[in-house]
Amino acid sequence: IIQLYTPLNWFGTYYRAIQKNFVDMENMFDLLKENQEVIDAPGAGPLIVKRGVVEFNNVSFGYLPERMILKKVTFNVPEGKTLALVGPSGSGKSTIIRLLFRFYDVQTGSIIIDGQNVKTITQESLRRAIGVVPQDTVLFNNTIKYNVKYGRLSAEDVDVINAAKAADIHERILTFPDAYDTQVGERGLRLSGGEKQRVAIARTILKAPTIVLLDEATSALDTQTERNIQGALGEVCTNRTTIIVAHRLSTIIHADEILVLKEGEIVERGRHEYLVGQDGEYAKMWSDQLKNEKNAESVNESWQEE
Ligand code: ATP
Repeated sequence: IIQLYTPLNWFGTYYRAIQKNFVDMENMFDLLKENQEVIDAPGAGPLIVKRGVVEFNNVSFGYLPERMILKKVTFNVPEGKTLALVGPSGSGKSTIIRLLFRFYDVQTGSIIIDGQNVKTITQESLRRAIGVVPQDTVLFNNTIKYNVKYGRLSAEDVDVINAAKAADIHERILTFPDAYDTQVGERGLRLSGGEKQRVAIARTILKAPTIVLLDEATSALDTQTERNIQGALGEVCTNRTTIIVAHRLSTIIHADEILVLKEGEIVERGRHEYLVGQDGEYAKMWSDQLKNEKNAESVNESWQEE
C-alpha cells in the first residue's frame, strides 16, 4: 500500500507545486492527466487557433470565494503583440497566467482566445497552443538533445540544432563532453539558471506555439547571460502573441502594452514612455529600479578598485 501511495502523493505534491510556482507546467501536464481540478465541458472541441488573440473580459477570481485576488481585469492582446504584467509581489500576475492556462475557472467574466471561451474547449488543445518559458525549467534526466526536443518529440535533429542556435545555446552544448548526447539533469551535467532558461526557449521555438507566456526569472543574471537571453527571447516572441510577467522593467520597454497590477486591480496601463511620464506606480518602480542599478554599479566599482 505504501508503494502505491507514494507515487500518488508525489503526483499530488508536484501538481500543487506546478500550480503554485508555474514551474514547467506544460511538460508536467502529460504526467498528470488524472489529477486535474478543472475538467473539460461535455462535448468540448479543440481550440481552433487562428491568430492568437487573447482577451480577458471583466475577469474576477479568488482561490477561495471569500478572498478575491483579481478584480474586473480586462485586456486584449492582439495578434503578435506583447503584453507585460508588472506589480508588487502578490498583486496577481501569475494568477492571470494560471487562468489563461485554465488551471482554475474564473468566477465571473471570461477568457477568450480567438473568439473561443477557454471553458468550452479541451484543455489539451489549449495547452498545445501555448508555449511557456518558466522561471525555473525542470530538466529530464536524459540527454541535452532530448531535453530540447521535448518541445516537439517528432522533430528532426536538424530542427533541434536550429532551435538551439536560435536560443543561443548551441555553441554552449558543443562544449559539453558528449555535445548533444551529454546527460543532463540531477544525475548528469548541471546547467546554470541562464542555460536552463535557454533550453526552455529552444523547446518553445521547436513547439512553435501561437501564444507564448514568459515568466521572467527574479534572480539576477550577469549582464552577458542577460543579453544572450534577451536575444533568444526576442527570437521566440517574434510574430507570436506574448504575455510576460516582468520583474526587470528594462526588458519590457518595447512591450505594446504594460499593465500595472496592485492588489488584483489594473491601476495603470500603457506603453513604457507614457507610464514613466505619469506620476504613478510605474514611474516610481522605474526610478527605484534605476537607483538599485546605480547602487549595484557603484558596489561593483568599489570592488574592482580594491
Ligand atoms: P509574485 O511576483 O510574488 O510572483 P504575483 O503577482 O504573481 O506575485 P500571485 O502569485 O498571482 O501574485 O498571487 C496573488 C495572490 O493570490 C497572493 O496573495 C497569493 O497569496 C494568493 N494565492 C496564490 N496562489 C494561491 C493558492 N493556490 N491558494 C490561495 N491563495 C493563493
